[in-house]
Amino acid sequence: MTKTVLVTGGTGYIGSWVVKELLEMGYRVRVSVRSFNRKDKYLHLQNLPNSSNLLEFFEADLLIDGAFDNAAEGADAIIHMASPFTLRFKDPQRDLLDPAVKGTRNVLGAANKSSTVKRVVLTSSVAAVHGDNIDMKEQGLTEFTEEHFNTTSSLKHQPYSFSKVNAEREAWQINAEQSKWDMVVINPALVLGPSIAQNSNSESLQIMKVLLSGKYRFGAPELYFGFVDVRDVAKAHVLALENHSASGRYIIAERVANFMELVAIINKNFPDQYKLPKMVAPKGLLFLVGALFGLSPRFVARNVGYRIAFNTNLSRQELGLVYTPFEQTVTDMVNQFRNN
Ligand code: NAP
Repeated sequence: MTKTVLVTGGTGYIGSWVVKELLEMGYRVRVSVRSFNRKDKYLHLQNLPNSSNLLEFFEADLLIDGAFDNAAEGADAIIHMASPFTLRFKDPQRDLLDPAVKGTRNVLGAANKSSTVKRVVLTSSVAAVHGDNIDMKEQGLTEFTEEHFNTTSSLKHQPYSFSKVNAEREAWQINAEQSKWDMVVINPALVLGPSIAQNSNSESLQIMKVLLSGKYRFGAPELYFGFVDVRDVAKAHVLALENHSASGRYIIAERVANFMELVAIINKNFPDQYKLPKMVAPKGLLFLVGALFGLSPRFVARNVGYRIAFNTNLSRQELGLVYTPFEQTVTDMVNQFRNN
């Protein structure tokens, strides 16, 4: 029988790839959209193969109690991905924490009320695994694994990460209080790669746009990130949905690299096309001018220059995920920016 999956956040950067993958595999897909009036957010999904007979939209906002109940009834599974990923916010409680945590309560509440949902795949983040890069050193670790939870973020410091770890903890709590559905959590690193979403606010797209704009041409901070291809993150969600023995959390990252390694890939594949940073910005200077780039002194102190590492064995061995090489991810993304 054809399975039905509700995808929250299916209009977004990662979610659109998840919807595409599910439609191609023959799933019936329900996508929640904040408002039917914002056609610019979901029109692209109607052009995907199989959308005319397998895709349905439901109107639901994360902050409206009960908004997901109708969409969840009749669904076999829910991929709960909707949550703001932005560093451009005014009020961290209102703009990040509330949609993340209340939204999770709301969507998993809908799973509880539904008579059909058997599995929830939750999109968390490595931001729920650790806060600052210095955490690894301070906690005496050589790598982060699925056992670790972010304990160093707050509403004032790294509020996006705070929203993700609180949402994930809330989800595990709600999951533990019932036995109707099981849960698999996907913890992606920083996602890059081409976008099929029409109008996403994802910081992934913003980071590349700003880098290519030349804003960092005088120097980039020595910041290390885990990176992963958006198409691999979508696949990880589908594997987590289908694999009956999948359980717990999965860190999803192809590698850790710093900004200058990303720059080197762009320079190699698109020589002399962009005003990219030529050197690493000295940490001391970042304390003085970091605010111009949205970097607080505390962020600079606890992140710049600190290497991190992630153990991704579970994603490879249990989910069977095969990663796209980082160079391919970056070139596909830059090519898309050039063609648009
Ligand atoms: P995105 O394109 O901005 O997607 C966010 C999605 O959440 C959109 O569909 C958005 O709907 C929806 N949403 C936001 N607030 C909502 C609300 N109040 N009610 C209903 N829906 C709401 O960002 P993304 O990069 O794809 O991120 C998707 C998920 O992956 C998030 O949970 C994020 O934390 C997680 N993640 C992202 C990365 C990354 O590097 N991109 C890494 C790790 C984890 P609209 O279309 O209406 O805006």
